[in-house]
Amino acid sequence: MAAPPPPPPPPAYGAPPQEMRVCTGCGRQIPVHYNACPYCGRSTSGQPQGESMGALKYVLYILSFLFWPLGIIIGIVFMISSESEKKQVGKMCIMLAILSVVLYVVCYFFIFAAIFGGMMGI
Ligand SMILES: [Zn+2]
Repeated sequence: MAAPPPPPPPPAYGAPPQEMRVCTGCGRQIPVHYNACPYCGRSTSGQPQGESMGALKYVLYILSFLFWPLGIIIGIVFMISSESEKKQVGKMCIMLAILSVVLYVVCYFFIFAAIFGGMMGI
């Protein structure tokens, strides 16, 4: 008679899964605490992710403001992300998209008010 399989070990608290990031040189996953990539030797010091996101997020903000439906889509996609920076960017994109909609409504309101006001001789 076979013994029942042992229960799976419980997840070890205090030992979080090792954080990984993608090497900017070779694209392989390397531990986040490494100063240099063990595969290609590229230095990982500095802001490898923050920097690339830095320029991109302003592009996303502008896109969100100009095309608000796109901003909401970008916002939702980024809010789902596990990275706190992306969540922050996603939140900002949605806020800009909402701001854009509000501005559109206000602009149209004033345009229509001006047209109808002018037609009625006010
Ligand atoms: Zn590498």
